[in-house]
Amino acid sequence: MWRMVMENKLIYLDNAATTKVDEEVLKAYIDICSNFYANSSSVHDFGISTKRELDKAREDILNSLKLDSTYKVIFTSGATESINLFIKGLAIAKSNRGKHIVTSNMEHPAVSEVLSYLKNKHNFEITTLPIGPDGRINPDDLKKAMRDDTILVTIMAANNEIGSLNDVKAIKEIVKQYPKCYFHSDVSQLVGKVNANYKDFDAFSFSGHKFHGLKGSGALVLKKNISINPLIDGGGQEDGLRSGTVDVANAISLAKSLNIAQKSIILRENHILKLHNILLKYLLANPDLYEINSPKDAMPYIVNFSLKNKKASVIVEALSNLGFMISTTAACHSKLGAGSQTVFALGKSKQLCLNTLRVSFDISNTEDDVNKFVVALDKVTKESRYNG
Ligand code: PLP
Repeated sequence: MWRMVMENKLIYLDNAATTKVDEEVLKAYIDICSNFYANSSSVHDFGISTKRELDKAREDILNSLKLDSTYKVIFTSGATESINLFIKGLAIAKSNRGKHIVTSNMEHPAVSEVLSYLKNKHNFEITTLPIGPDGRINPDDLKKAMRDDTILVTIMAANNEIGSLNDVKAIKEIVKQYPKCYFHSDVSQLVGKVNANYKDFDAFSFSGHKFHGLKGSGALVLKKNISINPLIDGGGQEDGLRSGTVDVANAISLAKSLNIAQKSIILRENHILKLHNILLKYLLANPDLYEINSPKDAMPYIVNFSLKNKKASVIVEALSNLGFMISTTAACHSKLGAGSQTVFALGKSKQLCLNTLRVSFDISNTEDDVNKFVVALDKVTKESRYNG
């Protein structure tokens, strides 16, 4: 594997799982580690100047997302932590108002497992909305699900398996009619990829490593007037919501990666579209071998398809041996026992759910990479003896 990387033979097409760290981000991280290593809670000059850097990172994040000071940024280790903090923190703080939460059936386990916990251990009632063949929830279903005791709607903006995009504005308009309810979204796959209006959310969660930031960097962004309980008590850092000495360099690396990603959305999308079209053209030309699962108007970053009669795990391994890194769909807590929960939610057969592949692009991938990938995919699929 090391040789593949050194000889540039590795073609990484698993960017929805994680991305390579941007050199500029790494530089910013090292710079802060070397020059602003004081504790940002210390009252001496060095602590104060370090805190200034931290506050600037917070402002930069709001600016990159075109948000004003009615929102605040809580630095975390990533989307999973941010989601846990917001959902559990809100559930604890607002359970006297109601114990009903609405979600969708294509959420990442970072959301769905938290909701199962609230349901099983704290008697919350969870309404799970289905997605349609377009990979979105139907706003009319949400309207019907809303109740006076609904305290939270948590629905992802962009799906990590099929790349579908929910109608966030429609969701916001519905939730707005229930003043005791908040709209939180897992935007892990949206940030840096799609120009969105982040004011539509009351709160949202993301990880830096999905857009060339560091693993272990992330944030919860929420409206200042929403009070939630902390999960970690202690010295009261991060507005009392995440105690522990703040990793200032990590926070600044997040702000930097976010700024770069948000600025280059259009530039990246034009390039990604070309890569997407190469793969799609091949898949559409071979309907006996593949079924495309990503809906037509999904983000071009993610192409999800099923092998009609071959075993996905075998194909992923064969491609990996040739230097192409892709995923079978993310490890899921599917009710099927295995396979893609999201593809199952689209209404596809168990057979197709079990043999799902996900290719996810990035600006560093070239058209030549994807042309080579298509040739390799064609070869391994046709030569494989393992029927799915
Ligand atoms: N939500 C979505 C949609 C994701 O794609 C991921 C990452 O796989 C997560 C949440 C969890 O992110 P992390 O593992 O960085 O906490």
